[in-house]
Amino acid sequence: MRIAIIGAGFAGCAIGSLLKEHEVTLFEDGLPHASNIAAGLLHKFVGQHAKKNPLADEAYKTTLDFIEEHAPQALKKEKILRLAYEPDQIIDFKLAHQTYPEAEWIDDVSTLGPYPKVPALIVEGAIVDCPLYLSTLKKKLNVVLRKIENLNELKEFDKIILACGPTHFPESPKLNTVKGQLLEFPFNYELPYPINSKAYLIIHNNKAVLGSTFEHTYIDNTPDFKTAFNELNPHFKRAFPHLEIGEAVVKSALRVTTPNRLPIAKKLDEKTYLLRGFGARGLLYHVYFAKKLFNLIG
Ligand SMILES: Cc1cc2nc3c(=O)[nH]c(=O)nc-3n(C[C@H](O)[C@H](O)[C@H](O)COP(=O)(O)OP(=O)(O)OC[C@H]3O[C@@H](n4cnc5c(N)ncnc54)[C@H](O)[C@@H]3O)c2cc1C
Repeated sequence: MRIAIIGAGFAGCAIGSLLKEHEVTLFEDGLPHASNIAAGLLHKFVGQHAKKNPLADEAYKTTLDFIEEHAPQALKKEKILRLAYEPDQIIDFKLAHQTYPEAEWIDDVSTLGPYPKVPALIVEGAIVDCPLYLSTLKKKLNVVLRKIENLNELKEFDKIILACGPTHFPESPKLNTVKGQLLEFPFNYELPYPINSKAYLIIHNNKAVLGSTFEHTYIDNTPDFKTAFNELNPHFKRAFPHLEIGEAVVKSALRVTTPNRLPIAKKLDEKTYLLRGFGARGLLYHVYFAKKLFNLIG
């Protein structure tokens, strides 16, 4: 079949890679998007309460296997520290520790490195170098830089897959979007494990990536340094009171959310399919739901 995929983010690249028996073309508009700027945290205990979705175990393994097969150089397995500063976090994270045997607990995380003196849930996970991951997948795919305005432009294709993140076409249901911003800045301190609390901090090659979800009402997607700094700096100072955020750049993109927090992989009509709604869990779920869609397309 001739298959058009609108989108070359995590979703489009995963389904494009699975459909290798077909003649697949991915279209992308060339604008910054969530998959390119994502911090790269992959683990099963996503969300402020660290509750594991029933699909999380299988989805996590599916993603790890896929990245190990297609772009192993983009994957670094790490423990991730879910720092609990506040009483409600301590309750939630301790419950996660008691419920799931693989989630460890530590009463004082400062014994592990230059962290604050607070307890933490320790979870298995990985850091994905997202630009490297995507560029490795795209090398094996036919990607065309072109913005699709209307699905009639793709009449000659047998199937069309909408993996277009925040872009709404009239053919697909309207989903909510949430702006995500992060700061990148030089950071020369050794941090044995990445942190994820109300904000996350990851160190890649002497560069810190600090981010959080804080703009739930989408106005526009323009990077806004002042808002991002004012929101993120208190989180940074809480962990590292003696340090300053140095010269930072801000990046922003939109996440697409669904009411039940699970992505959508479904057939819309004989020709059109949908693969969207990954929210903050793109790395965890993109391959699992791409496989679901693959089974529908056949
Ligand atoms: C700041 C931030 C940090 C994040 N950190 C993490 C993290 O650490 N871990 C994690 O798991 N998730 C993270 N996420 C969420 C994750 O990035 C998303 O869930 C995921 O990227 C969604 O992938 P997607 O392929 O569905 O959409 P997108 O990444 O939005 O990709 C959409 C694609 O569609 C294309 N497109 C759209 N419209 C058109 C059109 N009309 N014509 C042609 N092409 C079009 C775009 O060019 C793009 O290629 C983060 C998100 C943000 C914003």
